[in-house]
Amino acid sequence: MADHQKAAEALSVAKLGKALIRGEWRESAERFPSVDPTSGQQLVEVSLGREAEVDAAVRAAREAFAGPWSELSPGKRRDALERLAQLTESKEKELAQLEALDVGTPVVVGRKMTAKAPARGIAYYASWMDKLYGDVVPLTTSQPMLDFTMREPVGVVAAIIPWNTPLVFIGAKVGAALACGNSVVIKPSEVAPLSVLRWAELCREAGLPDGVVNVVPGDGQTGALLCGHPEVDLVSFTGGCETGAKVARAAAGKRLALELGGKSAAVVFADADLDKAAMAVALSAFGLSGQTCAAPSRLLVEDQVHDAVLEKLVELSRSLSVGDPLEPSTVLGPLASQAQLRKVSAMVASGKQEARLVSGGERLGGELSAGFFFAPTVFDEVKPPARIFREEIFGPVLSVTRFSGEDEAVALANGTSYGLAAGVFSRDLSRAHRVTRRLRAGMVWVNGYGQLPVQAPFGGTKGSGFGREGGRDALETFTQVKNVLIEL
Ligand code: NDP
Repeated sequence: MADHQKAAEALSVAKLGKALIRGEWRESAERFPSVDPTSGQQLVEVSLGREAEVDAAVRAAREAFAGPWSELSPGKRRDALERLAQLTESKEKELAQLEALDVGTPVVVGRKMTAKAPARGIAYYASWMDKLYGDVVPLTTSQPMLDFTMREPVGVVAAIIPWNTPLVFIGAKVGAALACGNSVVIKPSEVAPLSVLRWAELCREAGLPDGVVNVVPGDGQTGALLCGHPEVDLVSFTGGCETGAKVARAAAGKRLALELGGKSAAVVFADADLDKAAMAVALSAFGLSGQTCAAPSRLLVEDQVHDAVLEKLVELSRSLSVGDPLEPSTVLGPLASQAQLRKVSAMVASGKQEARLVSGGERLGGELSAGFFFAPTVFDEVKPPARIFREEIFGPVLSVTRFSGEDEAVALANGTSYGLAAGVFSRDLSRAHRVTRRLRAGMVWVNGYGQLPVQAPFGGTKGSGFGREGGRDALETFTQVKNVLIEL
């Protein structure tokens, strides 16, 4: 095990335990501990935002939006964001190490994926700055008129983000919001504030005007205060469904985008490349210790190949190296918090009553016993009424259910309240198309799982929310249409 306290000192985490408002660090009266999930030890105490901090941050964002940010020409705004993308990229190693300490994301995963995401997202959206076209609207009026539309920023965006991959949301959510000309107040989860605060510090260095990006660390109450603040124009929320419902109430009357939870299914037909399917499902279901919204936590597998696929998955689940996220050989780190460990343990206990445990099923001990480590777990013979079939676990737990034929596969895949993502594995292209159309999910992967290029729009349907992040579609969320009618 690496010395995490020493690593925390080297990364100057003590400096990061404050709100960042109008480009300045700000202390608050209340504080909360940021805990290292590998050791269970406190890393640093962080300021807890309440009315005063939320109000100061929103006012800073409003003033920056009305003044220096909107006065910057789109070309200058693009230059600033390109500088920010480059600076963020140059700090990728440091950001990955911070996430390893704060949420337990292995550095090797961080450097390939999560810590790469913010620079990619910001650079991608910076390139949209001169492509936000409006329309000339054809009219049927007898009087001569010219009608045209333009896309404008919405104003102050409250970006409320979860703990699992905070830097990914910096790229997809905050990058798009900034490129569209908005200013932002970010409320990271109390479980994962550190990498977001460090990234926000870079904004000033890159030359973004103070107040364009503000961060108020805190808890649910902090988030609720932000949602209800009258000067916030758009609440862009990513998190669980229950919290999403509260956010929708608190933000009533404001623009709203909700990226919520999932219980996604990977459907493997007998004619699929079974090795490829098993590998894709294992990496996506257990990667980041199962703490990803789109994880294929349900594997639906056709009768004839059930035993073969199950065997491959169990073997893969046992081969993943679980350990200290700072070590380069580690593929799976701990769960992000004690609360998540409790939740996963409770769901696994429920699964043991409802289905057949094939592998894993317990907290890891030995030299990992101080941290929140959980073994990759596989349940077989999981039936639709089971809690582990219907409810999001957000841990390294895979439920396997067998099916016979396309109709049953589709009914099982659609048989939860969620509609975030799904996967289809088949060599029959017609079948892959047919099934994809019938799946009620915002994202469907075919013969692969989990790849998310920055150009691809991502978001849910049904209980998984609405709005899209990534790609061109996110620009609709972060802009509004102004119509102009000129009488000629
Ligand atoms: P939560 O819903 O618990 O929290 C999300 C964010 O909302 C956190 O910053 C949280 O703060 C804050 N919050 C909590 N209560 C309120 C409130 N009443 N008003 C405003 N904000 C509030 O989700 P988790 O952080 O536990 O993240 C896991 C969930 O996120 C899973 O359901 C997962 O599927 C979903 N998710 C969805 C994604 C998508 O793109 N669709 C992507 C990633 C995750 P705090 O943590 O400090 O309490």
